[in-house]
Parts: sequence; C-alpha cells; structure tokens
Amino acid sequence: MKYISTRNKNLNLDASSAILQGLSKDKGLFILENPSDLQVNLEDCLNMNYQELAYEILSKYLNDFTAEQTRTCISNAYTHTFSSKDITPTVKVKNDYILELFHGPTSAFKDVALQILPHLLTTSLKIQGSKEEIIILTATSGDTGKAALEGFKDVDNVRIIVFYPKDGVSDVQKKQMLTSEGKNCFVIGVNGNFDDCQRKVKECFVDEELKEYMEKNHQKFSSANSINIGRLIPQIVYYFKAYLDLVNKKEIDLYDKVNVSVPTGNFGDILAGYLAKQMGCPIETFICASNENNVLTEFIQTGIYNAKRVFKKTNSPSMDIVVSSNLERLLYLYCKDDSLVTQMMNDLQEKGSYELTSDMKARLQNEFFASYTTQVETKELIKEVYEKENYLLDPHTAVAYKGMLDFKKENRNNYKTIVLSTASPYKFMDTVLNSISESKSDEFTMMEECEQLTNVKIPNNLKNLQEKENLHNTNVEISEMKNAILNILGEKHD
Ligand SMILES: *Cc1c(COP(=O)(O)O)cnc(C)c1O
Repeated sequence: MKYISTRNKNLNLDASSAILQGLSKDKGLFILENPSDLQVNLEDCLNMNYQELAYEILSKYLNDFTAEQTRTCISNAYTHTFSSKDITPTVKVKNDYILELFHGPTSAFKDVALQILPHLLTTSLKIQGSKEEIIILTATSGDTGKAALEGFKDVDNVRIIVFYPKDGVSDVQKKQMLTSEGKNCFVIGVNGNFDDCQRKVKECFVDEELKEYMEKNHQKFSSANSINIGRLIPQIVYYFKAYLDLVNKKEIDLYDKVNVSVPTGNFGDILAGYLAKQMGCPIETFICASNENNVLTEFIQTGIYNAKRVFKKTNSPSMDIVVSSNLERLLYLYCKDDSLVTQMMNDLQEKGSYELTSDMKARLQNEFFASYTTQVETKELIKEVYEKENYLLDPHTAVAYKGMLDFKKENRNNYKTIVLSTASPYKFMDTVLNSISESKSDEFTMMEECEQLTNVKIPNNLKNLQEKENLHNTNVEISEMKNAILNILGEKHD
C-alpha cells in the first residue's frame, strides 16, 4: 500500500511523504494505485461517531502513522471545533437528504479537511524526522483560503501564504480572510481570476529559483489545495457518515444504494466520494453539478475536456473554474496508465483540450451524471426550496439540488439521493437574501435581515465579523506573485 503519482506509477511513497510533497515532482498528483484494496466493513461502523469513523478510514490511508498519531490528529481536528456534535449532520428535505458540511469554524465544507490537514502535515514532519519549515502556498476561490488560514494559524513550523482573486470572492469571504489573525498567516489579493492564481501557484511549486532559495533556508512548499492527498482523504469520511446515518435512521436498509449530488469545482469533493465508493460505500451515481462554468458538464457528456472557454464570474463563486485539477486522479483510476495520463495533461497544457478513450468515456458516463445550473435558476431554486420546504440553500448547494432534480427527470434509477451542502447561506448573503426577498443593504446588514426573516441562525464565526480589523492589505498583479512569495520568505527580489 504505497502512494504513486498519476504521472509516474513507479513511485512508492508513504503517506507522510506524499502529504509533505503535496504535488509530485513530475507535476502529477499522489494517489493509491488501488484504493479498492482498502475496504470498510459497513456493519462494523454502524454505531461509530464521526471521530471513530474517521479513524477507521484514515488509519487505512495513513500507512506510516502510528495508531496514536492518527487518533491525536483526529481529536485535535474534530473536538470543540464544529458547532454540530455530528460534525457533518444529514437532514431530510422532502424525500431526499442534505448533508450539511458547513458547521466548521469558517462555515464552509473545506473546514472538514482543513481542520485536520495541519495536524497531518506536522505529524508527517515528525515521522520524516524533518526540521524544515513548511510553507503552505495556496490559491483560493474564496473558501479554501479562510479555512486554511483558520486551520494553520499559529501552527509551529508552518507559514501560510494565501492568494485570492481580488474581485472574485464575496464581501464576507474577503472580510473573513483579511481579518485572519496568526503571526504565520499572509493573505494577498491578485488582479486576476482563480485559474490565474492556481496556475501561478502550481508554477511556483516547481520553480527552480524558489526551490534553491528555500533549500538554503530549510523551507519547503506544501499545498492546502485539494491537490494534496492529505486534504482529500478526510473528505471520504463524511460520505460514509451520511450513508450510515441514513441506515441508522431507517431511511434506507444497509447496502441499499444511494446517489450523491456534489456541487463541483476543482473535483476534490466528488473525487473523495469516488474513493468512498471504491472503499465500499454503496454509491450508485455521482451527480456532478456545475454552474455556468460548465466545462465538466460538457466533459462528462462528450468525453472531451475543452478548457478553451471564457471564465465566468457567477453567484456560486467557489465553483468558478475552468481547469479541475483533481479530475487527473479519476483519469488515472480509470486507465491505470501513467503515460496516458501524462499525454492527456500535456494535451491540456499545449492544446487546451484532451479526449478520453472510448473505454474511459463509457465508464465515466456510467458512474457520473452531469448537469449545470444558470445563475438565474440558482436564485429561483433558493426561493422555491425556501418557500416549499422551509430550507435555506446556499447558492452552491442550490446548484447541487438542481443537479438532483435534473437527474430524477432522467429516470436512471430510484435510489435516494444525498445532496452535499457545502456552505452556510450566510456566506453568500447577497445572492441568498435577494432570492427570497429584496435588499440593497451590505452583506453584513443582510445577515441580520435574513436571520429575522427566516429564523435561520447566523453562524457564530460570521457574527461581528464586520467590526473586526483588516490585518492584510497587499494586492499584486499575476506576474508579481512569485516576488511576493520571495518577500515573505525573507528575501527582497528584483
Ligand atoms: C470549494 C467549494 C466547492 C467545490 O469543491 P471542489 O472540491 O473544488 O469540487 C463547492 N462549494 C463550496 C462552497 C466550496 O467552497
């Protein structure tokens, strides 16, 4: 049981080194060659709480962690940090289910992984006997940034640098990031979109000059983006949790199949679900729900990934993306052929597109259903579900809910569907409140208005956010990102 790269299957890494490296030197992503070797016995897990279930799953992946190290990481991450004791509760809405992933310290699903990733990283350092300082370099479309800052703040031997698209995140998201405390936290606005940020960050990871400079200083890059396998693994847990919750509530029988609908951007969340399925979670169909940046919809329907398209800013900004990095892992699992994956990724880089083999396409279409939702439809659905079901969806969750409705129209199967809810509606107040009523206030006043109107409580971390002081004020051009990093690492650079 060792980690390989999607672009080099001769690698043979332990979990700690895969987690520390983040991205492989060949630019591939780390993955287990056969995740289906790690089977979870569902019956054994029926009575487990979230932490126990997390141990059951994580211990299988963290091959060179001791049992105690894994347990300590889990208890550090999931004790007293989430506002729900279930961590990720599942609620019933009409005849389907919503898996609420937003009860963490920043009200976004990324907390589930980013509360534990710092502990996985520092434990990995210990295991490797490394004295290096870890530099977390991350690009964010809004939610990762704050969740990472919150997870890594004041963690010893770690510095975190977050780049976000200056005009591509919500007011609340921006305020959350700019008010981040923690001496080791650096937040930088970029005059560009999320794909620009992510592309540049990826380049910096393999930049020779940066590498040389950092080696001298005993520093090393790592990533908090979902390209890090250490971020993906913790996300497997809640798929099992949701499934077992439905069994325990007698909504389904053990081993009945379910579908899941996932609001998808970088393909991390849905890929974690795919890994859960490999490990024995009875998921039939993955509904890959996109917004108007519907590159994945087209991909699943045609087998051609075409990144030559215009990036759109939408009202579900955390899914605004043109290149979905984690798809590379699915490609590998489908073909188990590192040179084919390398070829496809080179095509993507050079020609802006690649095409699946007919075998891969058939498998993809068998397991995944694709749909996308326009911005207008997103708002209509928020209104409809609020009025009919008295449940307030955030825009990303609305996109997934619409994916479920589209899937039902196809009559492919009659299994129950779990919709993943990835953010609190309070993180995207402008869109949410203006879907169910009308308001011209700023997002912070809207929160109060929304609470009064709906009786849905404002999460604690978002209350009083407006009064907090901004602690970060650097903005840069895309071309200046590398210099900004060098400045933070401690060297002026012209
Ligand atoms: C990041 C994010 C997503 C997309 O998740 P991926 O793992 O990138 O596919 C969806 N919704 C919200 C609210 C997010 O923050």
